[in-house]
Amino acid sequence: MLPPRGLSPWGMPARHRFENALLVLAITVTALAYLVSIALLVSGRLDTWIGILLLAPLLVYLARGRMYAAQRVNGVKMSPTQFPDGYRMVAEAAARFGMSRVPDGYVVLGNGQINAFASGHGFRRYVVVYSDLFEVGGQARDPDALAFIVGHEVGHIAAGHTSYWRQLGMFGANYVPVIGSSLSRAQEYTADNHGLCNRPTGAAGAIGVLGAGKYLMGLVSFHEMADRAGTERGFFPWLVNILASHPVLTWRAAALRDRSRHGRIFFRP
Ligand SMILES: [Zn+2]
Repeated sequence: MLPPRGLSPWGMPARHRFENALLVLAITVTALAYLVSIALLVSGRLDTWIGILLLAPLLVYLARGRMYAAQRVNGVKMSPTQFPDGYRMVAEAAARFGMSRVPDGYVVLGNGQINAFASGHGFRRYVVVYSDLFEVGGQARDPDALAFIVGHEVGHIAAGHTSYWRQLGMFGANYVPVIGSSLSRAQEYTADNHGLCNRPTGAAGAIGVLGAGKYLMGLVSFHEMADRAGTERGFFPWLVNILASHPVLTWRAAALRDRSRHGRIFFRP
């Protein structure tokens, strides 16, 4: 038996090796954009972009407050009596990652979309799972896949991705192609490491549901998806990945299968 290597599902989940460097780059870009905006403002110029940038601390605060409130007033909040399986999964993931506070969990109407996200406002942290994705958790389906996805989202919180200061620091980089998206992809691999740590047996189901939805997920071959990470070659597959907020699905599958190295951010495995 091999010893845990940080990327092993039996050790604590690893942060992607490029994440912190890309975060420093993103914060540098934001800080430079800020300084240029202030300089332009002082020299008497003001346009929409300068305004948006200078108001970023307020805009990020308002957007996060509104997003949190939207879940509180429209979402179905997980509790010991409401979606207790989901409630337990969130608590178990938080315990697994050594978090002192358990995030709130909400189910919201998915309208067919397979999605989930994590965010926060002030000191509160929460995960939101769209109903069409949450449905995979029923006992008749694949609760392991849901536990992986809950672990992924709680992992974003455990890794600090949902903090106000981090999101403010990344604000400017989100408008620069490649830099913001590359940091985002590194964060997604970090979150996948958390998902795998939380429920290693859910990785294949998670790739299945993200690839083909809640009804066909069981028919998706995890290994065929992971194999194709290395065989779908060329400029355009590379371009799709480099501009995406999430690593392309075949590369994610490959990273979940090969635990000897970190997931690929820029070039195919
Ligand atoms: Zn994610």
